[in-house]
Amino acid sequence: MLLRKSKVAILVSVFVILSAFLITTVASASTNGTASTPELLIDYELCVTCGWCAEIAPTCFGIGADGYPYVKPDWYDYPQDWFDALVSCPTGAISYTNY
Ligand code: SF4
Repeated sequence: MLLRKSKVAILVSVFVILSAFLITTVASASTNGTASTPELLIDYELCVTCGWCAEIAPTCFGIGADGYPYVKPDWYDYPQDWFDALVSCPTGAISYTNY
């Protein structure tokens, strides 16, 4: 019986500690403005330099001198454009993350 009470006490303690950690983390993320950073990424292992992304979304992509695409700084201001390019890339080389 004593052993069972000890196990319950340990489980309650772990639950309280985890809950406090989660509440602190969520509260911190929501108040300091660092909750997420969106990124548009190109996987150069998959890219075949077809240029399609820059063709259909010139607001978001450019083509470098080496023939590979790059993401323009203001890409986030054109959500329809970068999304169209992302879903149209023939090799799936474009991805979106929001850390
Ligand atoms: S559409 Fe895809 S494969 Fe073509 S250049 Fe752009 S990222 Fe590369």
